[in-house]
Amino acid sequence: ERTVQRIAAGEVVERPASVVKELVENSLDAGASRVAVSVESGGTEGIRVRDDGVGIPEDQLEAAVAEHATSKIGDIEDLDRGVATLGFRGEALYTVGAVSRLTVRSRPPDAEAGAEITVEGGEVGEVRPAGCPAGTTVEVDDLFYNTPAREKFLKRTATEFDHVNTVVTSYALANPDVAVSLEHDGRETFATEGNGDLRSAVLAVYGREVAESMIDVEWTPEDGPGGEETDAPVRRVSGLVSHPETARSTRDYLSTYVNGRYVTASALREATLDAYGGQLAPDRYPFAVLFVEVPAGDVDVNVHPRKLEVRFDEEPAVRSAVEDAVESALLDHGL
Ligand code: ADP
Ligand code: MG
Repeated sequence: ERTVQRIAAGEVVERPASVVKELVENSLDAGASRVAVSVESGGTEGIRVRDDGVGIPEDQLEAAVAEHATSKIGDIEDLDRGVATLGFRGEALYTVGAVSRLTVRSRPPDAEAGAEITVEGGEVGEVRPAGCPAGTTVEVDDLFYNTPAREKFLKRTATEFDHVNTVVTSYALANPDVAVSLEHDGRETFATEGNGDLRSAVLAVYGREVAESMIDVEWTPEDGPGGEETDAPVRRVSGLVSHPETARSTRDYLSTYVNGRYVTASALREATLDAYGGQLAPDRYPFAVLFVEVPAGDVDVNVHPRKLEVRFDEEPAVRSAVEDAVESALLDHGL
């Protein structure tokens, strides 16, 4: 039985970054205004996510790490948004607990004392009292310690950390109203202020040069083809893109979100690049943080839990809206 559980876990827990993604989502779902992520050795030796959210009452700790734990209304809302999260709804903690040493420590703000529970390789321990601040801390140690084959797939520490950084960065930029921080081997990578301002989140994550070069993008159907149709295939394109001179040799800094969810969609990247025309130096890519809103029924997420690739029913319309949005933003700046 435990083997089946581990195989299932291996399907979804690909690497430390997949664990971090689930834990950060849980913190955001819990209404946190601060989410602090810290990892050791790229997350292979330790992952800790601490938040100041609603917490888990002591009598629900055991259920939280059990199979099919969820009762989140958010699941339904996610479906409504058209971009559901990962494939393991209600199973993230359970799944992670099967392939690591997992501790969940929590105190709801109105509870006097906190409590914790530990799961080791799927073995659920007792609920114990624990002193802790309001909110939840989840610690994952020795990921994959009981799955020898899987460990071979882990790449160098630096590579695993890059993946963790990409995940935490994408959530930090999507949630500028939440103070998100990341620490690697005791050193701070970045910390956003959580003041609601996207440009300030970009400053924290990418630094001053990039933040200062960022140009506002704000587009609605009235600005472009389609007029004021209420059934417009794209409802809004907003965010920030960099001045063409602030570019890098990787596409990694083109972040795109559909209906609030971080996605990789080549259509969105290509449309963004097209908008720059010939203004980018060869093999150079801009920074972009772009939020695209489309009707929920018009977007498909690849069903595999590890993939974030989306497809649009109205892809040409989405492409032209994004290109139009970015192009007008650049034009407004004489570019
Ligand atoms: P899901 O998020 O799909 O419900 P998880 O396995 O990720 O499933 O979490 C199980 C349950 O544990 C959640 O539904 C929630 O009730 C609780 N939980 C997990 N993480 C947190 C957190 N950071 N703050 C508050 N509750 C949490
Ligand atoms: Mg979850």
